[in-house]
Amino acid sequence: MEKVKVHPEPERCRVRFAPSPTGYLTLGGARTALYNYLFARHYKGTFILRIEDTDLVRSTQAFTDGILESMNWLGMEWDEGPFYQSKRLDIYKEYADKLIKEGKAFYREDPGKGTGVVFKMPEGIKLRVDDLIHGPIVFESEYLTDVVIVKSDGYPTYNFACVVDDSLMNVTHIIRGDDHISNTPKQIALYEGMGLPVPKFAHIPLILGEDKSKLSKRHGHNSVVEYKKLGYLPDALFNFLSLLGWSPGENIELMPKNEIIERFTIERVKHTPAQFNFKKLDWMNSHYIKNLEPAKLLALVKPLLTEAGYNVNKFDDVHQLTLVNLYRERAETLRDFVEATGFLFHDDVTYNPEAVEAYVKPAKSKEVLQDVFSGVNNLGEFSHASLETLLRNISENRKLKFKDIAQPIRVALTGNTVSPGIFETMELAGKEMVTKRLQKALQL
Ligand code: GLU
Repeated sequence: MEKVKVHPEPERCRVRFAPSPTGYLTLGGARTALYNYLFARHYKGTFILRIEDTDLVRSTQAFTDGILESMNWLGMEWDEGPFYQSKRLDIYKEYADKLIKEGKAFYREDPGKGTGVVFKMPEGIKLRVDDLIHGPIVFESEYLTDVVIVKSDGYPTYNFACVVDDSLMNVTHIIRGDDHISNTPKQIALYEGMGLPVPKFAHIPLILGEDKSKLSKRHGHNSVVEYKKLGYLPDALFNFLSLLGWSPGENIELMPKNEIIERFTIERVKHTPAQFNFKKLDWMNSHYIKNLEPAKLLALVKPLLTEAGYNVNKFDDVHQLTLVNLYRERAETLRDFVEATGFLFHDDVTYNPEAVEAYVKPAKSKEVLQDVFSGVNNLGEFSHASLETLLRNISENRKLKFKDIAQPIRVALTGNTVSPGIFETMELAGKEMVTKRLQKALQL
């Protein structure tokens, strides 16, 4: 494949993300934004944000706000904009008028609707796209139709407004999804018709769902706001999206933002579709959760617990931190904290029947629970150390393995068979909750 040079002066590159606010920011959209962002930061260029809101019926302010919020959340700060096409109508009109005057475009009546403008596709020319990812692609103009540039409602079409703006905003590289490849020759014809320099293009391959069809709503969650709600961390999603179609070349996957910026080049963007992998996202997210500063993690988890109706403030600051630290090891998403810590906040415990059959009902377990119940009641101080002495003594006296002591307590206290260390869990739950639940389990 013939290779195309990225830019003679990459530090002066200008790229843009140009979403249409007809929906929230999808993962595909976020990946396109991200590659533009990474390109701009890697080459120390400029990242422009442009809102393509010329579809009056489908564009809404709420979607625009949602897109900006998602970009901010993911940490893709832009240098210029946001520019709104709906505020630039005079500019497009000027360019359309000029094309009409030069005989390159003509008016077209749409009976009952109004008058649009159509650009005449020149005959017998070749339109060459030097695609940075796919290599050169040549289109013959005879296979292309005329291009509507102004709709009968007076608004410019995407192809036209996009070309005018990319030119006026001095965009040097257009990085966008493969689904726009068929628009590119039309846009090149427009650049040439208006005597404007043609930027470089890089069309990034689609993202496929796990079933290998194009990623869409059908695959479940598809917007960045949903992933935020599901408890994914922005840095994890940033890292994950960066690898959907690009790789740093070595076998490295976990990379902080600055390292991704440093390593990112268009040359390493793959020209075959990337495939979405939920397991990998969860794995990555759990890594970011484990490595987040405890105070930051608590700040993210606390609102979720509160929203679930948990009275987090019954714990002092130190115990709140203990709580997130204990549960971070197993958490794949922030939501997992809600589920895993519920037993600490509910008045009553919900027992998993299988866990009860296996670890509470047997006579041996009942004996253990009885020992623990009386032991705890007689404890002077209820602490990690005193609990440890107590449980070790019971295990010795009863000649049972430590886990045969811990598991019945775990089920009695949490209702389930998994929890972090038993001493830490008991200590967090507190003496009152522990005794109440031991009593309840003994009656099962
Ligand atoms: N508004 C277009 C879209 O959202 C932009 C395409 C482009 O980047 O040129 O698909």
